[in-house]
Amino acid sequence: MLSIVATPIGNLQDITLRAVETLRNCTAIACEDTRVTGMLLQHLGIEKKPLVSIHSYASDARTDQLVERLRNGEHIVLVSDAGTPGISDPGYGLVSRVQKEGLPLEVVPGPSAFLAALSASGLPMNQFVYLGFLPLKKGRSTLLRSIADEERTVVFYESVHRIRRALGDLAEALAPQPDRTVVIARELTKMYEQIITTTVEALPGVAQTITEKGEFVIVVGPRNRKD
Ligand code: SAM
Repeated sequence: MLSIVATPIGNLQDITLRAVETLRNCTAIACEDTRVTGMLLQHLGIEKKPLVSIHSYASDARTDQLVERLRNGEHIVLVSDAGTPGISDPGYGLVSRVQKEGLPLEVVPGPSAFLAALSASGLPMNQFVYLGFLPLKKGRSTLLRSIADEERTVVFYESVHRIRRALGDLAEALAPQPDRTVVIARELTKMYEQIITTTVEALPGVAQTITEKGEFVIVVGPRNRKD
């Protein structure tokens, strides 16, 4: 059996009872950084487990090995460093193979940064578009232009090194819609959690005051918001 298990995005208390139980009972864990997962196990008081690292660039051979172990009746957990595996994180390749092979699979849901940001944003979220990370070059301006036209709430991730550039580019792409809402969610569930609500017009000024530390989710309200 493969169990896909979500882990905390910051606050280590944000883990479900079922996730802890599954981590305790499995025979091995497929993870990104073995040190990160090792520390989580230690925090949960779970004895050491065999850890197999998988990355988005993981070879097919690594996936083959894990599939073989599953075929032999092992119970393997898939986690990422934080949040839900496969959401802008490795996991897709393994899960897709397990599905194709008809092997048993279950999901143990839990935190994801984009869901936490959306639910705190105060923006309409009955429909939304998740963009993952903005591309660095190819397709970046096209995608930013598509946000300008989007009538649903848009949510995306940005790394600390590129946050100011992303906010600057967003302000430029959305300049004809100065009242559109932008929410910057920083360090969710952690000690310095910040949820900043602003407008496109004020965004360049806000971007200059942003603490360039930690992790960020950006949420953009829909075009023509009616509520
Ligand atoms: N799998 C994760 C999930 O389910 O949210 C996402 C992993 S992705 C590699 C990492 C990005 O998620 C960060 O660069 C940041 O944009 C966002 N992120 C993760 N944790 C966060 C947090 N505590 N606060 C704000 N953003 C976070």
